[in-house]
Amino acid sequence: FNNIPESMPVKGKDLVFVQQSFDLNQILLNPGDFVLQTLYLSLDPFMRFRMRDPKVKSYVDAFELGKPVINLGIGRVIKSENSQYPIGVLLEGILPFQEYITVVSNNSNCIRSVVKEIPGIPLSAYLGLLGVSCWTAFIGLYDIGRIKSGETIFVSAASGAVGQLVVQLAKLEGLRVIASAGSAEKVEFLKNELGCDEAFNYKQEQPRVALKKYCPNGLDVFFDNVGGATLEAALSMANDHARFIECGMISQYNSSGLPGPRNLTLIVTKRIRMEGFIISDHKHKFKEYTNKMIQLVLDRRIVFKEHVSYGIENAIDGLIGMLKGDKLGKALVKLAD
Ligand code: NDP
Repeated sequence: FNNIPESMPVKGKDLVFVQQSFDLNQILLNPGDFVLQTLYLSLDPFMRFRMRDPKVKSYVDAFELGKPVINLGIGRVIKSENSQYPIGVLLEGILPFQEYITVVSNNSNCIRSVVKEIPGIPLSAYLGLLGVSCWTAFIGLYDIGRIKSGETIFVSAASGAVGQLVVQLAKLEGLRVIASAGSAEKVEFLKNELGCDEAFNYKQEQPRVALKKYCPNGLDVFFDNVGGATLEAALSMANDHARFIECGMISQYNSSGLPGPRNLTLIVTKRIRMEGFIISDHKHKFKEYTNKMIQLVLDRRIVFKEHVSYGIENAIDGLIGMLKGDKLGKALVKLAD
């Protein structure tokens, strides 16, 4: 992480790829230390939020300038002086974007858990399908949104990591689902593979116009991943007592000073309940929701698309591509088998 971006991060300026030599035989470990080979790294929108002035405090720290960015990843122990983590063990943790990581014993709190592979489910699923994306979808829909069968829900960024799960869970629960995404391919996926009742490309059709067409009876629930003009349109189509699940506002992450929705008075007049949430406040629910998702996947009731960039040298392009919406599905980097 080389520089705080002004808007969309720029490769070579804000984020730079640095090559260093690495020789496993030269690494000397003290008792408790071990070396991880990184297999997968997750690419998430909130990484952009971490590329900020560290003086701006929030629920998650800013990235440190001059250091590798960090995020959820999976690695395999390839050298170890730690009996808890012997060679071959797979670990999940908040990892620096590097191919190899020496974890010293007094800094091993970056490790979150030992990963147990589940037959029929790929390892990468721990970074999305069974992890952050799963918890975000469940917590948002059930704990915040309290969805009910027969209601109409609108989901933005619906083909992304969180969105595709929200859409499918809402359909399984008997809701009418309207979805938006940023390309014709994504709209096809939403309609034909995920079974959305209606889906539109917000770059072609203004959300305000599309929602009028597709939700003649208004919206009961909005799962908001993008904020901005889409949120404004959802407010204007909301029914009385609608619930707005404020999960993220990616349309604002790369732009400062954009006007927010201009019709916030509707929250009062329609008695809308609008609630933001951050999944780390709901850790006590993670295990339950992961187990539910495992069952749904094994029963073939949920599908999950990933977009994988291969090699650490392609991580920057993968991250920027995810922020721009270039690719369909959960964004990941795969570094090794
Ligand atoms: P996605 O896989 O959905 O990737 C981001 C997507 O956002 C892009 O693919 C793009 O899709 C869309 N997008 C980008 N710019 C815009 C824009 N200007 N207007 C509308 N859409 C845009 O990411 P995730 O599923 O991981 O995250 C989705 C949301 O959930 C984010 O806002 C994220 O911050 C939030 N989140 C919140 C959590 C919480 O605890 N509250 C936890 C995890 C995620 P398209 O082609 O459709 O434009």
